[in-house]
Amino acid sequence: MTTAPTRPLAEILAEMTSKKPEDVALVTKAYEFSKEAHKDQKRYSGDNYFVHPAEVGFLLAQVGMDAHSIAAGLLHDTIEDAGVKPATIEQEFGKETLSLVQGVTKLGTLRYRGLERHTESLRKLFAATAKDIRVLIIKLMDRLHNARTLEHVPKVEKRTRIALETLEIYAPIADRLGMSVAKQELEDAAFPWALPKEYEKTRELLRERKNENERRLEKVEHALKRELAEAGVRNFSAEARIKGIYSLYKKLDRKDWDITKIHDILALRVIFPTVADCYTALGIVHAHWRPVPGKIKDYIAFPKPNGYQSIHTTVYTGDGGALEIQMRTEAQHREALYGIASHLTYKEVQGGASKRGSLEWIRQFFPKSKHVPATDEENEEKVPTWVHELASAHHDGETSEYMDTLKADFFSHRVFVFTPKGDVIDLPVAATPIDFAYAVHSDLGNKMSGARVNGKMVSLDTALRNGDLVEVITKPAGHPSRKWHDIAKTNMAKKHIRAAVAALERKKAIEMRTRR
Ligand code: MN
Repeated sequence: MTTAPTRPLAEILAEMTSKKPEDVALVTKAYEFSKEAHKDQKRYSGDNYFVHPAEVGFLLAQVGMDAHSIAAGLLHDTIEDAGVKPATIEQEFGKETLSLVQGVTKLGTLRYRGLERHTESLRKLFAATAKDIRVLIIKLMDRLHNARTLEHVPKVEKRTRIALETLEIYAPIADRLGMSVAKQELEDAAFPWALPKEYEKTRELLRERKNENERRLEKVEHALKRELAEAGVRNFSAEARIKGIYSLYKKLDRKDWDITKIHDILALRVIFPTVADCYTALGIVHAHWRPVPGKIKDYIAFPKPNGYQSIHTTVYTGDGGALEIQMRTEAQHREALYGIASHLTYKEVQGGASKRGSLEWIRQFFPKSKHVPATDEENEEKVPTWVHELASAHHDGETSEYMDTLKADFFSHRVFVFTPKGDVIDLPVAATPIDFAYAVHSDLGNKMSGARVNGKMVSLDTALRNGDLVEVITKPAGHPSRKWHDIAKTNMAKKHIRAAVAALERKKAIEMRTRR
């Protein structure tokens, strides 16, 4: 059996953003404590169990998390798997570390039970998240290491379940937190085990196209560097961005498996010091290559909901193909890779110590280890307000305010509401009791006569809010109307309403005829 070396403490400390003596001491103590606690346990791979928490601690340091999170990452399995008492953790490491460890332990009991039970998992995750976002990031890194070592899990069902959970629950959360590195790694580690046939098919297609794509990228990169230099833009770095294989699979699936329709398998990513440089570069790119219509996306002016900022354009490369070019600033790049984690330690990063990625593929994007925005004013502009408030609230220790801010923005494009039985229904923002009823069951929608939200009667066009408890009142003679169709926000509700209204009108017409 292969045995992976345990990540040495020195490498974790070297990755840590904070170099404060008390932070170093906390992480060191957690490392030694966890090593001792797990000393008699083994992983499926035959490795010492401690390989796992040590790696989780390392990943947390790498994405820039604080000392308490790293310590909790090192200790995350000590209660559940090594029988350490919560009181001992509290005594040795304090309340904050204990609450993080317990949060992760609680999340660990989540099990994927297929799509129909998906909402239940989401609810638990959501509730846990509402308490401390750091718990979720620790859990993501725990899952990342487990997903990377899936090949060692002996039982097929367990391996498949972990892989599916990773794709359906953890990767979307990493995405929502803007942690694109974690998202892609989670997906690509789980994909071969969750959907083996699809994985093979995608890999085969990719293999066929690889050389052609690489040649095209090299050609464009060379020409672009020359054009930029001629225009006097010299301070930039250009890199190849390889699309994750799972993300490619999803896109292929949407495009009838026609790989020639996908132009971002390999993209050219160019990183500049300022936003102005990005727009200058866009002008140069479009002057040199003809852009593909409809493919110019300015996420700098219009960031994605998770905060992602970049300019994307796809250009015809003159050889019958096309290539995506992405332009962004260094600060935007860092945010794109680490998302919310890059803001949690935002102040500490400013304080001096710079981030240093140790994985080769991270390092290539951070050649000079200087990705700290220059001034406070600059930061104010670049960081979305809610993240800024969140980070500062966190550092001031105002935990509840910090969590409230987070609750408001996490999953901000969805609302999660409860049925009287406690099941969670996941709806788009501005959804109404009508959407809720049809999301539960079409019969419930079709017989609805009214709705109560949190115990109070409401009109059917009321916009539901996160955490609402919704109760649908039905009448045997109840039926949908055309007006409901205008009120409903979801396609599912609209579809059922149209069908029910049409059926009702047919019935009436027949009655009319028979009466005559
Ligand atoms: Mn674990």
